[in-house]
Amino acid sequence: MAESPRTDELIRALALGGRARVVAADTRRTVEELWRIHAPSPPMTAALGRAATGALLLSAALEKRTHREPTLTLEIDGGGPGGRILATASPAGWVRATAAHPEADAPSRPDGKLNVGAVVGSAGALAVTRDLGAGQPYRGVVDLVSGEIGEDLARYLLESEQTPSAVGVGVRLNGDATVGQAGGYVIQLLPGVPDDEAEALSGRVRELGMVTDRLREGLGPDAWLARLFPEGYELLARQAVEFRCGCSADRVERALKLLGEGEVTRLIEEKPDEPSIELTCGFCHARYEVPRGDLERLREEIRAEARERSGQHGS
Ligand SMILES: [Zn+2]
Repeated sequence: MAESPRTDELIRALALGGRARVVAADTRRTVEELWRIHAPSPPMTAALGRAATGALLLSAALEKRTHREPTLTLEIDGGGPGGRILATASPAGWVRATAAHPEADAPSRPDGKLNVGAVVGSAGALAVTRDLGAGQPYRGVVDLVSGEIGEDLARYLLESEQTPSAVGVGVRLNGDATVGQAGGYVIQLLPGVPDDEAEALSGRVRELGMVTDRLREGLGPDAWLARLFPEGYELLARQAVEFRCGCSADRVERALKLLGEGEVTRLIEEKPDEPSIELTCGFCHARYEVPRGDLERLREEIRAEARERSGQHGS
Protein backbone atom coordinates (compact mmCIF):
# COMPACT_ATOMS: atom_id res chain seq x y z
CA MET A 1 0.00 0.00 0.00
CA ALA A 2 1.41 3.40 -0.98
CA GLU A 3 1.62 5.61 2.07
CA SER A 4 -0.31 8.82 1.82
CA PRO A 5 1.27 11.67 3.76
CA ARG A 6 -1.84 12.37 5.83
CA THR A 7 -2.69 8.94 7.17
CA ASP A 8 -1.18 6.71 9.82
CA GLU A 9 -1.01 2.92 9.82
CA LEU A 10 -2.61 0.30 12.03
CA ILE A 11 -1.92 -3.44 11.96
CA ARG A 12 -3.86 -6.34 13.44
CA ALA A 13 -2.33 -9.73 14.14
CA LEU A 14 -2.74 -13.03 15.97
CA ALA A 15 0.11 -14.57 17.94
CA LEU A 16 0.81 -17.38 20.44
CA GLY A 17 -1.04 -19.85 18.25
CA GLY A 18 -4.11 -17.63 17.88
CA ARG A 19 -4.46 -17.01 21.63
CA ALA A 20 -3.13 -13.46 21.59
CA ARG A 21 -4.96 -10.71 19.69
CA VAL A 22 -2.72 -7.79 18.83
CA VAL A 23 -3.42 -4.34 17.41
CA ALA A 24 -0.68 -1.72 16.97
CA ALA A 25 -0.53 1.66 15.31
CA ASP A 26 1.69 4.64 14.60
CA THR A 27 -0.63 7.62 15.17
CA ARG A 28 1.67 10.63 14.85
CA ARG A 29 -0.25 12.35 12.05
CA THR A 30 -3.59 11.75 13.76
CA VAL A 31 -2.32 13.30 17.01
CA GLU A 32 -0.79 16.20 15.06
CA GLU A 33 -4.24 16.90 13.65
CA LEU A 34 -5.78 16.86 17.16
CA TRP A 35 -3.06 19.27 18.26
CA ARG A 36 -3.76 21.58 15.31
CA ILE A 37 -7.52 21.62 16.01
CA HIS A 38 -7.61 21.87 19.81
CA ALA A 39 -4.36 23.74 20.58
CA PRO A 40 -3.95 21.64 23.74
CA SER A 41 -1.30 22.15 26.44
CA PRO A 42 1.58 19.62 26.33
CA PRO A 43 0.06 17.16 28.87
CA MET A 44 -3.39 17.52 27.26
CA THR A 45 -1.83 16.82 23.83
CA ALA A 46 -0.62 13.55 25.31
CA ALA A 47 -3.98 12.86 27.00
CA LEU A 48 -5.97 13.47 23.80
CA GLY A 49 -3.44 11.55 21.72
CA ARG A 50 -3.42 8.55 24.06
CA ALA A 51 -7.23 8.51 24.21
CA ALA A 52 -7.54 8.76 20.41
CA THR A 53 -4.91 6.04 19.92
CA GLY A 54 -6.66 3.81 22.48
CA ALA A 55 -10.02 4.31 20.76
CA LEU A 56 -8.53 3.40 17.37
CA LEU A 57 -6.87 0.27 18.79
CA LEU A 58 -9.98 -0.95 20.62
CA SER A 59 -12.29 -0.19 17.70
CA ALA A 60 -10.16 -2.12 15.19
CA ALA A 61 -11.74 -5.48 15.99
CA LEU A 62 -15.39 -4.34 15.88
CA GLU A 63 -17.40 -6.22 13.28
CA LYS A 64 -19.60 -4.43 10.81
CA ARG A 65 -23.07 -6.00 11.06
CA THR A 66 -25.30 -3.53 9.28
CA HIS A 67 -24.85 -0.81 6.66
CA ARG A 68 -23.98 1.55 9.51
CA GLU A 69 -20.37 1.80 10.59
CA PRO A 70 -19.78 0.45 14.09
CA THR A 71 -18.10 2.89 16.49
CA LEU A 72 -16.33 2.76 19.82
CA THR A 73 -16.32 5.72 22.19
CA LEU A 74 -13.91 6.20 25.08
CA GLU A 75 -15.04 8.59 27.76
CA ILE A 76 -12.57 9.52 30.45
CA ASP A 77 -13.70 11.68 33.34
CA GLY A 78 -11.06 11.77 36.06
CA GLY A 79 -12.04 14.99 37.83
CA GLY A 80 -8.82 16.74 36.76
CA PRO A 81 -8.53 20.25 35.27
CA GLY A 82 -8.66 18.86 31.70
CA GLY A 83 -12.28 17.85 32.19
CA ARG A 84 -14.03 15.09 30.29
CA ILE A 85 -12.17 13.57 27.34
CA LEU A 86 -14.09 11.89 24.54
CA ALA A 87 -12.68 9.86 21.65
CA THR A 88 -14.74 8.01 19.05
CA ALA A 89 -13.24 5.67 16.47
CA SER A 90 -14.36 3.20 13.85
CA PRO A 91 -12.79 0.06 12.35
CA ALA A 92 -13.14 1.93 9.05
CA GLY A 93 -10.03 3.77 10.25
CA TRP A 94 -11.08 7.14 11.57
CA VAL A 95 -11.01 8.74 15.00
CA ARG A 96 -12.06 12.06 16.50
CA ALA A 97 -11.44 13.35 20.01
CA THR A 98 -12.09 16.34 22.19
CA ALA A 99 -11.59 17.52 25.76
CA ALA A 100 -13.55 19.98 27.88
CA HIS A 101 -10.42 21.99 28.76
CA PRO A 102 -7.60 21.30 26.29
CA GLU A 103 -5.67 24.28 27.70
CA ALA A 104 -5.35 22.70 31.18
CA ASP A 105 -1.68 22.40 32.07
CA ALA A 106 0.50 20.82 34.75
CA PRO A 107 4.26 20.83 35.34
CA SER A 108 6.13 17.81 33.99
CA ARG A 109 6.99 14.98 36.36
CA PRO A 110 10.39 14.92 38.08
CA ASP A 111 11.63 12.45 35.42
CA GLY A 112 10.76 14.99 32.70
CA LYS A 113 7.71 13.08 31.41
CA LEU A 114 4.43 14.84 30.67
CA ASN A 115 2.13 14.61 33.68
CA VAL A 116 -0.98 13.25 31.97
CA GLY A 117 -2.46 11.91 35.22
CA ALA A 118 -2.36 15.41 36.73
CA VAL A 119 -4.52 16.99 34.01
CA VAL A 120 -6.85 13.99 33.55
CA GLY A 121 -7.23 13.24 37.28
CA SER A 122 -7.64 9.77 38.75
CA ALA A 123 -10.79 10.13 40.84
CA GLY A 124 -13.27 9.08 38.21
CA ALA A 125 -14.15 6.54 35.58
CA LEU A 126 -13.38 5.30 32.11
CA ALA A 127 -16.37 4.25 30.01
CA VAL A 128 -16.26 2.38 26.73
CA THR A 129 -19.34 2.32 24.51
CA ARG A 130 -19.48 -0.06 21.57
CA ASP A 131 -22.18 0.79 19.05
CA LEU A 132 -22.43 -2.00 16.51
CA GLY A 133 -25.00 -0.11 14.44
CA ALA A 134 -27.85 -2.39 15.48
CA GLY A 135 -29.51 -2.92 18.83
CA GLN A 136 -28.54 -1.23 22.08
CA PRO A 137 -24.94 -0.01 22.36
CA TYR A 138 -22.88 -1.96 24.90
CA ARG A 139 -21.31 0.17 27.64
CA GLY A 140 -18.72 -0.86 30.21
CA VAL A 141 -17.38 1.36 33.00
CA VAL A 142 -14.38 0.97 35.33
CA ASP A 143 -12.77 3.23 37.91
CA LEU A 144 -9.58 4.91 36.74
CA VAL A 145 -6.26 3.52 37.98
CA SER A 146 -4.10 6.61 37.43
CA GLY A 147 -5.57 8.76 34.64
CA GLU A 148 -2.48 7.91 32.56
CA ILE A 149 -4.90 6.16 30.14
CA GLY A 150 -2.76 3.12 29.16
CA GLU A 151 -3.17 1.31 32.49
CA ASP A 152 -6.76 2.50 32.71
CA LEU A 153 -7.48 0.80 29.38
CA ALA A 154 -5.75 -2.38 30.57
CA ARG A 155 -7.96 -2.40 33.68
CA TYR A 156 -11.05 -1.93 31.52
CA LEU A 157 -10.12 -4.90 29.32
CA LEU A 158 -9.45 -7.08 32.35
CA GLU A 159 -12.47 -6.13 34.46
CA SER A 160 -15.10 -5.45 31.84
CA GLU A 161 -14.08 -7.91 29.13
CA GLN A 162 -12.24 -10.49 31.26
CA THR A 163 -9.19 -10.42 29.00
CA PRO A 164 -5.79 -9.95 30.62
CA SER A 165 -4.13 -7.32 28.42
CA ALA A 166 -1.03 -5.28 27.91
CA VAL A 167 -1.64 -1.74 26.70
CA GLY A 168 1.00 0.78 25.70
CA VAL A 169 -0.06 4.18 24.39
CA GLY A 170 2.26 7.14 24.14
CA VAL A 171 2.77 10.62 22.77
CA ARG A 172 6.14 12.37 22.79
CA LEU A 173 6.48 16.06 22.04
CA ASN A 174 9.41 17.82 20.42
CA GLY A 175 11.26 20.61 22.24
CA ASP A 176 8.99 23.19 20.60
CA ALA A 177 5.87 21.29 21.87
CA THR A 178 4.94 19.97 18.41
CA VAL A 179 4.13 16.26 18.15
CA GLY A 180 7.25 14.14 17.74
CA GLN A 181 6.00 10.55 18.02
CA ALA A 182 2.70 8.88 18.88
CA GLY A 183 1.39 5.37 18.81
CA GLY A 184 0.36 2.35 20.79
CA TYR A 185 -0.54 -1.30 21.01
CA VAL A 186 -3.05 -3.56 22.73
CA ILE A 187 -2.31 -7.25 23.34
CA GLN A 188 -5.26 -9.29 24.59
CA LEU A 189 -4.70 -12.80 25.91
CA LEU A 190 -7.49 -15.24 25.17
CA PRO A 191 -8.11 -18.27 27.39
CA GLY A 192 -5.58 -21.08 27.10
CA VAL A 193 -2.26 -19.21 27.25
CA PRO A 194 -0.01 -21.13 29.67
CA ASP A 195 1.34 -19.09 32.60
CA ASP A 196 4.97 -19.42 31.50
CA GLU A 197 4.14 -18.07 28.02
CA ALA A 198 2.20 -15.15 29.53
CA GLU A 199 5.10 -14.50 31.88
CA ALA A 200 7.63 -14.51 29.03
CA LEU A 201 5.45 -12.12 27.06
CA SER A 202 5.27 -9.71 30.04
CA GLY A 203 9.07 -9.72 30.10
CA ARG A 204 9.24 -8.85 26.39
CA VAL A 205 6.64 -6.07 26.90
CA ARG A 206 8.92 -4.58 29.57
CA GLU A 207 11.95 -4.94 27.28
CA LEU A 208 10.12 -3.24 24.40
CA GLY A 209 9.72 -0.18 26.62
CA MET A 210 7.90 2.93 25.48
CA VAL A 211 6.58 2.92 21.93
CA THR A 212 7.57 6.57 21.50
CA ASP A 213 11.22 5.64 22.24
CA ARG A 214 11.04 2.86 19.63
CA LEU A 215 9.37 5.17 17.06
CA ARG A 216 12.14 7.66 17.65
CA GLU A 217 14.63 4.95 16.68
CA GLY A 218 12.65 4.37 13.49
CA LEU A 219 10.97 1.18 14.78
CA GLY A 220 7.28 1.06 13.88
CA PRO A 221 4.43 -1.35 14.76
CA ASP A 222 5.82 -4.23 12.65
CA ALA A 223 9.13 -4.05 14.52
CA TRP A 224 7.36 -4.01 17.91
CA LEU A 225 5.46 -7.18 17.02
CA ALA A 226 8.65 -8.86 15.82
CA ARG A 227 10.21 -8.15 19.24
CA LEU A 228 7.13 -9.11 21.25
CA PHE A 229 6.55 -12.36 19.36
CA PRO A 230 9.96 -13.68 18.24
CA GLU A 231 8.33 -17.03 17.41
CA GLY A 232 6.26 -15.23 14.77
CA TYR A 233 2.78 -13.83 14.32
CA GLU A 234 0.04 -13.91 11.71
CA LEU A 235 -0.70 -10.52 10.17
CA LEU A 236 -4.49 -10.18 9.72
CA ALA A 237 -4.84 -6.65 8.39
CA ARG A 238 -2.95 -3.50 7.61
CA GLN A 239 -4.96 -0.33 7.21
CA ALA A 240 -4.72 3.44 7.06
CA VAL A 241 -6.08 5.40 10.02
CA GLU A 242 -6.58 9.13 10.38
CA PHE A 243 -8.39 11.92 12.16
CA ARG A 244 -11.81 12.47 10.58
CA CYS A 245 -14.83 14.05 12.19
CA GLY A 246 -17.70 13.17 9.89
CA CYS A 247 -19.94 15.96 11.14
CA SER A 248 -22.36 17.63 8.72
CA ALA A 249 -25.27 20.08 8.79
CA ASP A 250 -27.58 17.06 8.77
CA ARG A 251 -25.91 15.49 11.77
CA VAL A 252 -25.94 18.80 13.64
CA GLU A 253 -29.74 18.83 13.17
CA ARG A 254 -30.05 15.28 14.44
CA ALA A 255 -27.86 16.11 17.45
CA LEU A 256 -29.99 19.18 18.21
CA LYS A 257 -33.08 17.02 18.09
CA LEU A 258 -31.56 14.66 20.64
CA LEU A 259 -30.87 17.61 22.97
CA GLY A 260 -34.63 18.10 23.21
CA GLU A 261 -37.17 20.87 23.24
CA GLY A 262 -35.74 22.81 26.18
CA GLU A 263 -32.30 23.17 24.64
CA VAL A 264 -33.67 24.12 21.20
CA THR A 265 -35.92 26.72 22.83
CA ARG A 266 -32.92 28.11 24.70
CA LEU A 267 -31.03 28.51 21.40
CA ILE A 268 -34.04 30.20 19.76
CA GLU A 269 -34.42 32.66 22.63
CA GLU A 270 -30.72 33.26 23.30
CA LYS A 271 -30.10 35.79 20.54
CA PRO A 272 -33.56 36.93 19.41
CA ASP A 273 -32.23 39.44 16.86
CA GLU A 274 -29.96 37.08 14.92
CA PRO A 275 -31.36 35.45 11.77
CA SER A 276 -29.36 32.30 12.48
CA ILE A 277 -27.53 30.60 15.33
CA GLU A 278 -23.90 29.57 14.94
CA LEU A 279 -22.99 26.16 16.33
CA THR A 280 -19.45 24.80 16.50
CA CYS A 281 -18.57 21.12 16.30
CA GLY A 282 -16.68 20.21 19.49
CA PHE A 283 -14.56 17.62 17.65
CA CYS A 284 -13.29 19.52 14.60
CA HIS A 285 -14.38 23.13 15.25
CA ALA A 286 -16.36 23.28 11.97
CA ARG A 287 -19.00 26.01 12.22
CA TYR A 288 -22.62 25.57 11.19
CA GLU A 289 -25.14 28.35 10.69
CA VAL A 290 -28.59 27.10 11.65
CA PRO A 291 -31.33 29.50 10.47
CA ARG A 292 -33.87 30.46 13.13
CA GLY A 293 -36.64 29.01 10.94
CA ASP A 294 -34.91 25.60 10.97
CA LEU A 295 -34.69 25.67 14.77
CA GLU A 296 -38.41 26.45 15.00
CA ARG A 297 -39.18 23.61 12.57
CA LEU A 298 -37.02 21.26 14.67
CA ARG A 299 -38.86 22.28 17.83
CA GLU A 300 -42.18 21.53 16.13
CA GLU A 301 -40.88 18.11 15.08
CA ILE A 302 -39.73 17.35 18.65
CA ARG A 303 -43.16 18.37 20.00
CA ALA A 304 -45.04 16.35 17.36
CA GLU A 305 -42.97 13.25 18.15
CA ALA A 306 -43.59 13.71 21.88
CA ARG A 307 -47.34 14.00 21.25
CA GLU A 308 -47.25 10.87 19.13
CA ARG A 309 -45.42 8.96 21.87
CA SER A 310 -47.80 10.05 24.62
CA GLY A 311 -50.75 9.20 22.30
CA GLN A 312 -49.41 5.69 21.88
CA HIS A 313 -49.02 5.28 25.63
CA GLY A 314 -52.60 6.49 26.19
CA SER A 315 -54.22 4.08 23.75
ZN1 LIG B 1 -16.93 17.99 13.38
